[in-house]
Amino acid sequence: MISEFFKSLDLAQTILIIVSLCYIPVLIWTIVAGLRVQSVFSKYNKIPSLNRYNSSRAARMILDSCGLYDIPVKDCSGSLSDHYDPKTKCIYLSASTKDSISVAAIAVAAHEAGHAIQHSENYFFLKIRNMSVPVVNFSSMIAFPLIIIAIILEAVMGVTQISNTVLLLGIIFYSVYLLFLFITLPVEFNASKRALKLMVENNIINESELKPAKKVLNAAAMTYLSSFVFSLLQLLRFLAIFLSNRRR
Ligand SMILES: [Zn+2]
Repeated sequence: MISEFFKSLDLAQTILIIVSLCYIPVLIWTIVAGLRVQSVFSKYNKIPSLNRYNSSRAARMILDSCGLYDIPVKDCSGSLSDHYDPKTKCIYLSASTKDSISVAAIAVAAHEAGHAIQHSENYFFLKIRNMSVPVVNFSSMIAFPLIIIAIILEAVMGVTQISNTVLLLGIIFYSVYLLFLFITLPVEFNASKRALKLMVENNIINESELKPAKKVLNAAAMTYLSSFVFSLLQLLRFLAIFLSNRRR
């Protein structure tokens, strides 16, 4: 009975059912991941590391151990806004991170140092990611307006060749943005992997402190993963609309 029901569905209907089933759980996952990164950081930010290096010092030690003496560690505004800027070749640590001696803050600083090392080594996925930034900025800016225009055209004039072409263009630009989110995943996971290894190798934290450091970095990685999956569902939804319009 159920198998007959699924056999009777076309591709657009199958995609829509999958998207509908996954949408709410993935939305909740995305929200929880965003909240969790804050709560995990605050929890482990209260625990000082045994060797008591602050995170600015930790980032400096990691960079120096890789010969990256020319990459400065500077301050930036905001909370958990720590980042590595490939344009200025500089690590920026936020007020909540830079002077903290907690395992959480050190892990964040080491992760940013991981990005600087990826850059210096021409790490494949970071290179592709940096190269695609201008195209992605344009694509993400134009994708949603095109999709909204297509929906308005459909509502006013019904499904036409024009509304479907505008929708297809929106889907193509949205796919470029999604590809960027996908390339970001190995970049983030790899920076965390490097951070964990280099923190121990440089005696900044010891092996017993790896678990909380991992938890902080994994919580941050989950936000990237969940927003990628959520955006993938959005793309599939638009694709299903496009496919069912074409049948009309
Ligand atoms: Zn990162």
